[in-house]
Amino acid sequence: MRLMNTNMIDISVVIPAYNEAPSLEELYRKLTAVLVRTGKSYELIFVNDGSSDDSLHIIDKIVDIDPYVSAIHFRRNFGKAAALNAGFRIAKGNIVFTIDADLQDNPQEIPKFLRKIDDGNDMVTGWKEKRKDPLSKTIPSRLFNYVVSKCSGLKLNDYNCGFKAYRWFTLENLNLYGELHRFIPMLLHCQGYSIAEVSVRHNERQYGHSKYGASRLLKGFLDLLTVLLMTRYIARPLHLFGGIGAVISGMGSLILFYLTTIWLVGIRPIGNRPLLFLGILLVVVGIQFVSTGLLGELISHEQQAKSPNYIIRSVRHGRKQQNDQLPKISK
Ligand code: UDP
Ligand code: MG
Repeated sequence: MRLMNTNMIDISVVIPAYNEAPSLEELYRKLTAVLVRTGKSYELIFVNDGSSDDSLHIIDKIVDIDPYVSAIHFRRNFGKAAALNAGFRIAKGNIVFTIDADLQDNPQEIPKFLRKIDDGNDMVTGWKEKRKDPLSKTIPSRLFNYVVSKCSGLKLNDYNCGFKAYRWFTLENLNLYGELHRFIPMLLHCQGYSIAEVSVRHNERQYGHSKYGASRLLKGFLDLLTVLLMTRYIARPLHLFGGIGAVISGMGSLILFYLTTIWLVGIRPIGNRPLLFLGILLVVVGIQFVSTGLLGELISHEQQAKSPNYIIRSVRHGRKQQNDQLPKISK
């Protein structure tokens, strides 16, 4: 990603699209009209995520007639997170928007996001306050937002709105893959960026169908484990695995201690007691957890040496250091 702000333009809009051919031209027209009205310089980046419909030709036709539009065509469907990642890598805007390609979000809301960014927020995420999706999506989504808000400490009504605006530097350390796009606010919050939410109007899907079914809830919660591990324990895996391992083998050791005492005082034989097997199992599993934590520490140690896990807001030098004249210690 960009190491410095080498941006030449004000706004980039990244549009991930998977089989959304019927809405692309209308979205392009609406986006362009709003962006021209803002008076800012802009670019549109369509990321065609391996669509099997006519998206490729439609997007290429738009690129041919409009110099402010670029396109990335994936060879196959790699998922929304990968599509966003690819768009972010070539975006040159000081502010980078993402918007879904299915016309469910309204480009007219762009100025609202810009005002929130101007208020000093690093990232602004949409909140589909009156969501126009079936109950089978809205109810699981409420549960998901509640749990993720609790786990991340960042209370948002809508984590997974496709409509978002980022200051360019927030994207520097955002590596999206799999289905991590649902956790972007949590990932950025954990890196210390300020995040705000704006309520946006939401439209019903006009063409095609949603790409995410009911299985997204289960996948979402599994991904939450990954994200928690990545944000909380990446630099100290032994605290997590060692903690769990210590508790489990502690319980096993207590059981074995109890059985040993019984055996020593000769109350009853213990060789055929299920409790003995439970005690042994708990100790072995606990040790496995601790070993996993130790391996994690080794991997984390290597990783930290390559790229440290902190993010610097700014650096200021005292006048002396600026001139490379560090105070010398006299012998
Ligand atoms: N999308 C994508 N790749 C995928 C799935 C979805 O680029 O593998 C795009 C899709 O074309 C749309 C956006 O991500 O522009 C949101 O998808 P969808 O509308 O299906 O999600 P929903 O609104 O139902 O949550
Ligand atoms: Mg949609």
